[in-house]
Amino acid sequence: MRGIDKIYINGAFVTPHGEETADLFNPATEVKIGQVRLGDATDADAAVAAAKRAFPAFSRTTKAERIAFLKRLHAEVSARADELARAMVEEYGAPQYFVGFAVANAASVFLNMVETLEAYDFTRTIGRAKVEMRPHGVVVAITPWNSNYGFICTKLAMAIAAGCTIVLKPSEMSATQTQVLTECLHAAGLPAGVFNIVNGRGDVVGATLSSHPDVAKISFTGSTGVGRSILLAAAQTMKRVTLELGGKGPNVILEDADLDAAIPTALMTGFMNSGQACIAGTRILAPESRLPEILERLKTAVAAIKAGDPNEPGVQVGPMVSQKQYERVQGYIRLGLDEGADLLAGGEGRPAGLDRGWFVQPTIFSGVTNQMRIAREEIFGPVLCVIPYRDEAEWTCPEKVESFLLMKGDLDDETETVYGCVQGGGGWPCANERSDEAADRGGSWCWFLDADAMDGSAAGS
Ligand code: NAD
Repeated sequence: MRGIDKIYINGAFVTPHGEETADLFNPATEVKIGQVRLGDATDADAAVAAAKRAFPAFSRTTKAERIAFLKRLHAEVSARADELARAMVEEYGAPQYFVGFAVANAASVFLNMVETLEAYDFTRTIGRAKVEMRPHGVVVAITPWNSNYGFICTKLAMAIAAGCTIVLKPSEMSATQTQVLTECLHAAGLPAGVFNIVNGRGDVVGATLSSHPDVAKISFTGSTGVGRSILLAAAQTMKRVTLELGGKGPNVILEDADLDAAIPTALMTGFMNSGQACIAGTRILAPESRLPEILERLKTAVAAIKAGDPNEPGVQVGPMVSQKQYERVQGYIRLGLDEGADLLAGGEGRPAGLDRGWFVQPTIFSGVTNQMRIAREEIFGPVLCVIPYRDEAEWTCPEKVESFLLMKGDLDDETETVYGCVQGGGGWPCANERSDEAADRGGSWCWFLDADAMDGSAAGS
């Protein structure tokens, strides 16, 4: 049983002022594996104060110094990759293939940022104006549980590169993973206060940080509802806010698609990270002319998808992160049936042979219309909808298919995905290849910077 009773403020692991605790579970077994002591509003204030004190000196660091910090962070995270992987399987239940990606990605974002920083010009001339990009101030990063390492490391790397100090509030459900990661980040030996990490409830620590007068910028990844409340809270002090919210991404199978390639790709992108992915392609838009063939192939292919113990090689779908998430996904499966959709595969309850753990059957609904809630709302589990279309006008019509879009994949006859960047989202290359900080998710790292006009000609324009 693990007891996590420290938060990280001003370069040290300290006992939180907050006394509330939360239990931590292994989602594959439902067994309690530990307990975390949560920070409170006083801890959030202390973390912001530390970041504020560290800001003046850190904001003046040179590009070379920031690059050196980023390289050290990369080295320390890489050095404990095995331990990070074990924590992610135990606490989150991620299958092996996803853990491998997630841990390597968490380390590599620091090096990707080095590359970006090396090429970045902080001073530039635009027309007759000289523009200098300056660190914006104290940044707050609030992150979800579905890719804990990736979000913490990405937002930290961006802040470091920009010369900002940061307070991170990870999901309270990821405390074991956060503890191992924080130890890695601490070992990199950055100046005290440059980054601070406070475990705590969203409505306590998250809400305090979102309205804090000394915070200049919020970078949030999480659900749309919480994002909305953060935007409202931040408006009081006119903070800059970047929101990465929920998604209901479509995979469009084109009329001339090679189904040998398109069907596995649709399932891979739909069930990635056990369906707990904002970028998952959870709506399969299928041409009506080929619908019977597509449904038949999906049914056969999904039967071969292995759901179960995340430690087992070959498992593609692990458990849902929590009992609440399990019940939410089961509720959506019931809703799909109530709405009149047809069950092509899966359904309510656990996969065959599993009598414990928050496992959901990989499920596909056919006969789904754009009006059904299962087609419009983010389920965040391994549940896909097949929505037929007659002609391209039906899926290129933005209000029909792109209103809740984060990522989109088009599957055509080239035996590969045709990637398309679309308004409000990104294309698959952002997810399949290395993350490009300058391009993906609209989360451009330079959003942490102020652009100050350096001469009179730009100042008033
Ligand atoms: P969530 O919105 O419930 O929580 C995210 C974070 O916000 C957590 O740290 C939580 O403690 C905090 N929080 C909760 N209430 C808060 C409040 N009132 N004020 C400030 N902070 C608060 O999301 P989740 O359940 O942890 O994650 C799943 C969601 O995240 C899904 O909707 C998913 O689509 C989304 N997500 C989006 C992206 C993206 O890049 N767009 C990536 C991953 C996850």
